[in-house]
This record gives sequence, C-alpha cells and structure tokens, in this order.
Amino acid sequence: MEMITKVEGIIVKTTNYGETSLIIELYTKEYGTIGIMGKGVKSMKSRLRALTQKFTYGFFYIYYKEDKLSILKDADIINPFTHIHEDITLISYLNYITELTTQVYKESQNEDLFTLMIDGITKINDGLNPSVITHILEVKYLDYLGVGLHLNSCINCGETKSIVTIDPDQGGLLCKDCYKGERLYPIKIIKLLRMYLLVDIKSITKLDISPDLEKEIELFLSSYYHRYTGMYLQSKDFLKKIETL
Ligand SMILES: [Zn+2]
Repeated sequence: MEMITKVEGIIVKTTNYGETSLIIELYTKEYGTIGIMGKGVKSMKSRLRALTQKFTYGFFYIYYKEDKLSILKDADIINPFTHIHEDITLISYLNYITELTTQVYKESQNEDLFTLMIDGITKINDGLNPSVITHILEVKYLDYLGVGLHLNSCINCGETKSIVTIDPDQGGLLCKDCYKGERLYPIKIIKLLRMYLLVDIKSITKLDISPDLEKEIELFLSSYYHRYTGMYLQSKDFLKKIETL
C-alpha cells in the first residue's frame, strides 16, 4: 500500500493534461521542484480546482514517486497571497522570485531557500516594497550560489578605511588607492547591502529606502548577477518592462 506524503510547496507551473487533468510543477521545501499529476482537478465539481492554480501556496498531500510524476490526493492553502493576485506588477515579482529561487535551488539544493522565498513573498503580500524585498532575496541567495559579497574590506588590498566604491566586476569594495576610475556607487549602498545580507526577513515591518538608492542597488545587483552567476531569467526582463510602463 502506498503512503500519502505531506509536502509544503508553491505551484510554479501547470500544464493541461487531457480534458480535466493537470500536470503540476510544485516547488517544495523538502524535494525541490517535483512533477505531480492532478487527475480530474480541472473538472467543475473537483474541490481541488481552486487549489491547483499557479502560485497556490499550501500543503499538498501526494503519493510521492521519486523518478516519475507523483499523484495529488488533496491540498490545503497556507496563504492565498490575495493582495499579490490583485496586482499585475506584484504577480510579475512573484513570477521572478519563484523562477530565481528554483534556479538557485538547482545549484545548492538547500531547504532554507524555500523558507527565505516564502518569507519574502509574504512580506510583499503584506504591502512592503516588492523591489526592496526582491533585492534582499537576491543578496542572500549569492551565498547559496557560492559567490557571496565581500563587504568588509578592499577586494584588492584588504584596506578597511577610505573605501570609495563597490565594483560589481571585481566583486567587492575598492579603497582610494586601488580605485582606477570604476563607477562610483553611493557609499550608502554598501551599508544597505550588509543589512540585506543579515536581516531576518520575517522581522521586517517597514522599509525606508530612497528610490535613488534602490535604483543604485538594482544596477549593482544586476551587474553582479550577470558577471558572477551566469543566470539569465526571462521573468526579470518582463519585470523591468512592467516597471517602466
Ligand atoms: Zn585597496
């Protein structure tokens, strides 16, 4: 007899299968992304119809199969993220954050990533600045990718005083002696990046980051990700387009 397994997860993709069934890609805390067959879940009378939409976050009760599709038996919603679902821009953030997190998980297989992601999405749903929350996640994920930021001393000589900028290409701080005309980022973003790295997302109640500094951090993180992670995510391009509308 097969045992039912309870997993915590968020639906990241659904594909129609026949008239009434769905193949669900579920990003789970326990197993990473797994494929699940939802038999008959699209039929009007199925209770699971509403619980198998993209981005449903909940507990899923499945017959877990390691190398093939698991079978969905039941589901319970943990948080419907109602506020996010009412806003196309926030949905784009959700799309990007889930894509980014599942990619980072592929590299590191660390369960903590799921928790960080859910903490971030929950704060966005609670109304905190989605761009800042996304930056906080991006900063934290760098450690899991093995390319964490060095924010304590000059990347060249180790000097801790007279830091003049942070350089995404060299991957760290530069002091005035090692500075050779690189772009001058505001020194304030170094302190913010340090804070982003250390802060417990659950404990954040408000964020006061000026839009100018937010743009500088965005520019730094985009360049750093491009240079050091080799990740290219379509959802990020789309997010940028939406934000400039
Ligand atoms: Zn130096």
